[in-house]
Amino acid sequence: MPEKLNQEDDAKLKKGVCPKCGSTHFVEGPSGGEATNIACEQGHRFWFAPPFTSEYQGTIRVEREGDMLKAWF
Ligand SMILES: [Zn+2]
Repeated sequence: MPEKLNQEDDAKLKKGVCPKCGSTHFVEGPSGGEATNIACEQGHRFWFAPPFTSEYQGTIRVEREGDMLKAWF
């Protein structure tokens, strides 16, 4: 179940910091309209559509490939 972030966590994510683990490395996934799915390097997946409140969508598989992140959304 997607879970809306609280205001503090949402603000963190909008500054580019994962509110679940503090990572600042993200990979972009499928997007629709103004919304994008993003995941941090630890696999925390979010629905991201500023200025709307972001949603946490659980974890997915993310692997590092050199300097790039590869994610299975
Ligand atoms: Zn994270």
